[in-house]
Amino acid sequence: MISEAIINSLVRLVDEERVLISEPMKNHTTFRIGGEADAMVRISDKNELSKVLRYLSQVEIPYYIIGNGSNLLVADEGYRGVIIEIADKMNEVRVEGSCLVCQAGALMSKIARIAYENGLTGLEFAAGIPGTIGGGTVMNAGAYGGELKHVVTQVTVVNKEGEELIFTNEDMEFGYRTSLIKKYPYIVTEVKLQLEEGDKSVIKETMDDLAARRRDKQPLEYPSAGSTFKRPEGYFAGALIQDAGLKGYTVGGAQVSEKHSGFVINKCGATSADVRNLMAHVQKTVKEKFDVTLEPEVIYLDS
Ligand SMILES: Cc1cc2nc3c(=O)[nH]c(=O)nc-3n(C[C@H](O)[C@H](O)[C@H](O)COP(=O)(O)OP(=O)(O)OC[C@H]3O[C@@H](n4cnc5c(N)ncnc54)[C@H](O)[C@@H]3O)c2cc1C
Repeated sequence: MISEAIINSLVRLVDEERVLISEPMKNHTTFRIGGEADAMVRISDKNELSKVLRYLSQVEIPYYIIGNGSNLLVADEGYRGVIIEIADKMNEVRVEGSCLVCQAGALMSKIARIAYENGLTGLEFAAGIPGTIGGGTVMNAGAYGGELKHVVTQVTVVNKEGEELIFTNEDMEFGYRTSLIKKYPYIVTEVKLQLEEGDKSVIKETMDDLAARRRDKQPLEYPSAGSTFKRPEGYFAGALIQDAGLKGYTVGGAQVSEKHSGFVINKCGATSADVRNLMAHVQKTVKEKFDVTLEPEVIYLDS
């Protein structure tokens, strides 16, 4: 548990209403799962972020960064430390010609809308991904043939000492659902995207088509963290899980979606343990039946 003195210091660095104590993480994840974090700080700009990071390093309190919590499975026991949220308090987007300069907490849906409004093409694929551009850049989020690595030109980060560094696309070591920042504890504060001028009606048509495909195929009516497992080379995780007879397989409140076997959904009051046990059973069964290892795409945050 974090002492009152530490909370008081955080309140001096950040407005009081942006320091939350004993905060249920289920309120900050799209899975709607997760116990209490000792504290949560909702960051509004990079100077504030640097101050908080320096302070937490100095007092040796663990911290974890979240964006929109759309790729996270937080433990039922919550998190012993401080959650640093970079989301809607830090979400400005600036249009500079065909470039978009985005604060890390801006949602990809918002950025895709701004791109469309300005007749810029290249980000249609990201309109339905429910994460921030910061989280998306860390994950190299992608869909329907698009990936952020195709449009990101510059990423501004701070390190745990609160110092700023700037990376180019090449520096970022983007790969399938990964980047440099999965390996090193940098925190994304700003992302620059290079798009191209396009026809607004075509951009709109593409975005509408992709949204309809998502509604048709994905269980968007239930809380989840999207695709539970990464795509194994040469296969589709959902097809393997379905062929293993696991469609609808249930543990407690968690279920392999009946609509799309690649999604584990929180059907009814699932715990983190339900999801973890279900995922372990799916991995074991798929390995036994097809000799394929399924690697989680969802990130576990344990206390
Ligand atoms: C219904 C649904 C559909 C989805 N569809 C897709 C899809 O089509 N394609 C796809 O790629 N993903 C998809 N996802 C998964 C998810 O939306 C993406 O991975 C997204 O990029 C995560 O962004 P986030 O802001 O929610 O990150 P979070 O889940 O909050 O965090 C993810 C990781 O990034 C780190 N992180 C977050 N912000 C920062 C930051 N500013 N600096 C440093 N580290 C940070 C966190 O520590 C964590 O390790 C889907 C999820 C859902 C629920």
